[in-house]
Amino acid sequence: MSEPEVRHPGSERGGRWPEIYERTLDCIHCGLCLESCPTYRETGLEISSPRGRIYLLRSIAEGRAEPGELLAHEAFLCLACRACETACPSGVEFGALIELARAEVVSTGLRRDLASRIERLVLRLLLPHPKRLHRLVGLMDLARRLGVMRLLMALAPRRLARMEALLPPIPSREDRKPLPEMNPAVGATRGRVGFLAGCVMPELFGDVNAATVRVLQRNGFEVLVPRDQGCCGALHAHAGDDAFARRLARRNVEAFGAIGVDTVLVNSAGCGAALQDVGRWLPLEGELFAASVRDVAEFLDAEGIQAPEGSVDATVCYDDPCHLVNGMGVSDAPRRLLEKIPGVRLIAHADPTSCCGAAGTYNLTHLEMSQAILARKLDSLDAADPDIVATGNPGCLMQLRAGLAERGSRARVVHPLVLLDEAYKGGASSSPSRRIL
Ligand code: SF4
Ligand code: SF4
Repeated sequence: MSEPEVRHPGSERGGRWPEIYERTLDCIHCGLCLESCPTYRETGLEISSPRGRIYLLRSIAEGRAEPGELLAHEAFLCLACRACETACPSGVEFGALIELARAEVVSTGLRRDLASRIERLVLRLLLPHPKRLHRLVGLMDLARRLGVMRLLMALAPRRLARMEALLPPIPSREDRKPLPEMNPAVGATRGRVGFLAGCVMPELFGDVNAATVRVLQRNGFEVLVPRDQGCCGALHAHAGDDAFARRLARRNVEAFGAIGVDTVLVNSAGCGAALQDVGRWLPLEGELFAASVRDVAEFLDAEGIQAPEGSVDATVCYDDPCHLVNGMGVSDAPRRLLEKIPGVRLIAHADPTSCCGAAGTYNLTHLEMSQAILARKLDSLDAADPDIVATGNPGCLMQLRAGLAERGSRARVVHPLVLLDEAYKGGASSSPSRRIL
């Protein structure tokens, strides 16, 4: 007599449900993640906690509930900050789980409102295309200079106006130029690394990219920035567009594979965490690449840096980007680097590891919740009253800058590598060589 077929719970739904089901099994319902969850803290609702969301996903996978509005709402109310992963004693990989759930919501048409469609189009048609992005940022800069932007925003819907408020000062044309493909080490060469320039970073934080490359050069590293690289796909994956994210990931695997480096450095935590996950998106071909990806502060801390000649005389609060502390497991290294800058007095604030509410496009799609979460963070920073807030992710830089400015705070918000670069400028040439391969 043949054995009866064992049906995998969740498999009857097809799609991503068998994998979602498997991943929910790690949860032992202990609730230790609840207080770390920003949406649970704001709402007090079990369904808006990690444990509640896992229960919902498992119920749907097992056929005890149907995928519908509640799933769509909770999958996107979550910030994907992964604070629950850090708190979880049972190894639940919530980031992967929520990404799968969002992809399922989108592919089955449960998220079809106009804002979501526009978001998807913008992510697909803009971020992977550097020239389009460059022109758009140039136009926005011009509109700001002419005072037209203020006029337009006064008439614009609230979310659009928020987007403008989040934009940092546009870097100079020089800083928005693509980085050279090859940036030689200053002095004796200690090693050769690849660098992910990103999509938004060159346009809105080109000065941060240039500072990062200078610091690496100054510390004896040859920095390769392959032209064929592109957007990391993190925002696409977070928006439930996993197929497009996979396409973008493949492009980076090929671009960095072609230059033959063992280490690919990233100065944007969101991109770094996404690229370290590429092995899950592209089994086999992406695994080696994913293992080569490191945060630049973690890398420099491990390799050791030259003592800066200059100083930055300031009190500094370091704020942990979610994807750096929860996604890449990096927390002490940026603090240690900052402490090596002469004049920096690192001071703690009460809430460094909670999400600031930026979370990719969350501060535009969930404006009220994002603002409530940001308010807690700003209260904590206000109480510490630093001269400088340092954080290593473009979304956090924009969110904290805008929030602190609205409160009239004196604190300057910068990337840690910019402070390190400023300290080196005390005694070194400040512009990277523009030698092209
Ligand atoms: S990822 Fe963040 S917002 Fe989502 S459930 Fe976990 S802690 Fe809560
Ligand atoms: S801490 Fe982990 S195991 Fe406990 S309820 Fe949260 S997700 Fe489940």
